[in-house]
Amino acid sequence: MAQNIALVGIGKIAVDQHVPALAASPDWTLAATVSRSGSVPGIMSFTDLDAMLADRPDIPVISLCLPPVPRFAYAEKALRAGRHVMLEKPPGATLAEVHALSDLARDRGVTLYATWHSRMAAGVAQARQWLADKVVTRARITWKEDVRKWHPGQDWVFEPGGMGVFDPGSNALSILTHILPKPVHVTAATLFYPENRQTPIAAEVQFSGDVSGDFDWRQTGPQTWNIDVETAGGSLRLSQGGAALTIDSVAREVGKNREYPSLYSHMAGLVDRGESDVDLAPMVHIADAMTLGRRVTVDPFQF
Ligand code: NAP
Repeated sequence: MAQNIALVGIGKIAVDQHVPALAASPDWTLAATVSRSGSVPGIMSFTDLDAMLADRPDIPVISLCLPPVPRFAYAEKALRAGRHVMLEKPPGATLAEVHALSDLARDRGVTLYATWHSRMAAGVAQARQWLADKVVTRARITWKEDVRKWHPGQDWVFEPGGMGVFDPGSNALSILTHILPKPVHVTAATLFYPENRQTPIAAEVQFSGDVSGDFDWRQTGPQTWNIDVETAGGSLRLSQGGAALTIDSVAREVGKNREYPSLYSHMAGLVDRGESDVDLAPMVHIADAMTLGRRVTVDPFQF
């Protein structure tokens, strides 16, 4: 039977992905929204989380679609109210706050799911399986997109905690950390900060084991979301953000890309089994790149 769920933060990703995924899901009924300005036609809407938690004890699960900085306070309240919680990616503004949420969820006996939608991209599971018994000799992330297209007018991405280009970069890192048979760590980084902004618009990151990442938010025209992996036993490319896979230059059949439906289906299983799923490996790489990164100032950026 479908369970009630509430969506909090009705902005770009809620409208683009969460609402359609829930509407098509047999597991969930969208029962309420919480947003200061957004709503979903036909769904009971609140502007305040406390009011929703008080009025709707029949909603056991809350999915938070807010940016990372304001998300923590909402997550903490929902967990304290005994609700299961789903976090958009990246799961927090800091590592410690996500550890705190994890501890709280465990103490309250509820589920916390730190989602990584790109891990659900159609080619990722097969890539992970193919790499499982391989020795990786080189890997390269090329993640170049147009910030104006994907984050139109969203100044929060350039404010402290917004993570800049590591907001989409976390998608690549969530795949990398999922498919590599052995973990790597950041060894150096160069971060490119617009002179009028607080977060990087581009980054070059080196990892151990000849692994590297080139992240850039200034790409117009065709967008590039590739991960290339070379091994002693052949090479692999995930492209289109993980939705397409080639192995030794031969395209693999991977099925339809269903990232957000897969997240919600996974959440249903976690709640059912009384489990949580919180993997901070992608965020550790971001924190380490910020810690080690050499800063280069580039042209100012305006939306
Ligand atoms: P967004 O549209 O700028 O923000 C989502 C909603 O959060 C806003 O509509 C706003 O709703 C609420 N919000 C923003 N700042 C707030 C604050 N300080 N306090 C309370 N509520 C606030 O952002 P988005 O693109 O949907 O991204 C949200 C999350 O989804 C991010 O973590 C992002 O990485 C992730 N994501 C985004 C995309 C994408 O393509 N944009 C793709 C995948 C994942 P109200 O003002 O109505 O309350």
